[in-house]
Amino acid sequence: MSLVSLLHDSAQGTALYSRVLALLDAITTAATLSLPELPGHLARALSKDIAFERLGLWLVDEKKTPTPVGNSAPFVGYESLRWVIANHAPLNIRDMTREHRPGKATSILSALLVPLQSGNRLIGVLGLGSTRRDAFSADDEYVLLTVARSLAAIVENARLHQETTRRLAEMTTLYDLAQRMNSSLDLQDVLKTIVTSLKDTLKCRGCSIALLDPTHEVLEIAMAAGIKPEWERRFRLRLGEGIAGRVALEGRPIYVPDTLKWEGFIFFDPSVRSLLTVPLVLKQRIIGTLSVDSDKPHAFTGDDERLLTIAATQAAAAIENARLYSGLEQQVRNLAEAYAELKKTERLRDEFVQNVSHELRIPLTFVRSYVELLLEEYPGPLTADQRKYLEIIAEKTNTMSRLVNDIMELQQAGAPLIRRSPVSLSDVVHRAVEGCAAAAARAGLKIVEQLPEERVLVIGDEHRLIQVFDNLLGNAIKFSPNGGQIVVRLESTRSVVRASVSDQGIGIPKEEQARIFDRFYRVDGSGGQRIGGSGLGLAIVKSIVEAHGGEVWVESEPGKGSTFYVSIPQYRPPRAGDITG
Ligand code: ADP
Repeated sequence: MSLVSLLHDSAQGTALYSRVLALLDAITTAATLSLPELPGHLARALSKDIAFERLGLWLVDEKKTPTPVGNSAPFVGYESLRWVIANHAPLNIRDMTREHRPGKATSILSALLVPLQSGNRLIGVLGLGSTRRDAFSADDEYVLLTVARSLAAIVENARLHQETTRRLAEMTTLYDLAQRMNSSLDLQDVLKTIVTSLKDTLKCRGCSIALLDPTHEVLEIAMAAGIKPEWERRFRLRLGEGIAGRVALEGRPIYVPDTLKWEGFIFFDPSVRSLLTVPLVLKQRIIGTLSVDSDKPHAFTGDDERLLTIAATQAAAAIENARLYSGLEQQVRNLAEAYAELKKTERLRDEFVQNVSHELRIPLTFVRSYVELLLEEYPGPLTADQRKYLEIIAEKTNTMSRLVNDIMELQQAGAPLIRRSPVSLSDVVHRAVEGCAAAAARAGLKIVEQLPEERVLVIGDEHRLIQVFDNLLGNAIKFSPNGGQIVVRLESTRSVVRASVSDQGIGIPKEEQARIFDRFYRVDGSGGQRIGGSGLGLAIVKSIVEAHGGEVWVESEPGKGSTFYVSIPQYRPPRAGDITG
């Protein structure tokens, strides 16, 4: 028979039924979604019907351990609560003084405890306490039991609401933390933000990050907030030593609720009473520990531990980012230094080469002059061998003079243009072709000129521009061992004049094309053989063209030939009609 039908069966039952209905009405209207406020609401509603001085509401966890809601001091013994939880049945303690273990509030002399059930699941205990002995009747028990059945749903809702609110707050905190941690890439800034933010969030006394030196396997404090500098300096733990050492070794959080009761606790600061330490893990590697401490025992909750653990994951990532960044910065600095050093060495080398070349020029002129004298048999007749040897000396001296001249020219080639005047590039090209005609003919080569009818002008230094085409034509002849023809073309667009020198020679492999304009760079011929030259010609060409605000490049295919292009801004003299005013 159900309780409700039992209540219906008698006159007393009807009275009880209306008591229960009135109470349920009061409770549901007063019901709040805030769990800590619930005992107060219940007390107000129930006091209209039952006389009592204390109300207690306990919720049980998975281990069936009761925890009071709100902060009311317990007025019944733990054993009594355990009994209700174990038996799912009400307990009317008529005389507390006879209880095996009385509650702490000794003024309470009787108590009525009923289980809170949601379906078949016991979720807590509701209890009333009175300063009178035997204060609660069997009717009160029925009423409270019935009320408790409806209350379960309200408690569940409030609990859910509390959990959702807590999670939301936690998410907001973590989001906020992540934002702050990632606002800088400087390692010290990042560490400082982590400790100060967590100290604020967890409202604890101190927060510290200890980083692990993997070589020496020691933990040292890298940043702290709220900790005295002397304790910070003293802190040094080997892996496995102390709380942080164990956390770093085992990779799991450790909570010390009361340092005085923790055997072997290593005190750096004697005033620390509770300590919560979590590992800083990055890609399954422990890089350090994150700790919060308090001068009060039992300062941290399970929620704090969870929050700190998640924050530690974010912190580890932020620390790694900052470390990677500072590593990169260092590399950039090293590269910049190395580059500056290289530039300095290059400058010194250039100066040295220029000086030596200059010093070589005069003695070389002497050697050449005397050799010429000897070859002209001025001092006396030569034997065939003597002539042969002198001719070798003359040839090598010429090669050396060319090299020295090239080096000297290279220096001048890159210098800014001093004499600037309109120069006809058509004339320049034509003169260069004329100058090379004899050499080309000797090599069995034909030079074809394709020049526009109108003269095209550029602003620059005629002498240096002739040098450009001398060098390009010289190369075209030198690197066309099988003859063929060389085409020199000049075209003008609106803004530039483009000249090209094409040959049908040996060509240049793709991978070498970018480097041939470097000083002293020469492509190795097949079988390592080289055609004579200093490797300076194209460097001179490039310097001169660039000094004229132009560009030079090559298109080539090995075995088929090369085309060198030179493009220089065109100069168009103002015509009479252009001048206004
Ligand atoms: P050099 O001709 O004195 O060696 P350059 O600076 O003029 O020096 O040329 C650099 C290198 O570029 C040459 O050694 C050669 O390997 C390559 N090169 C230049 N012009 C040509 C060309 N027309 N055909 C093939 N290779 C060329």
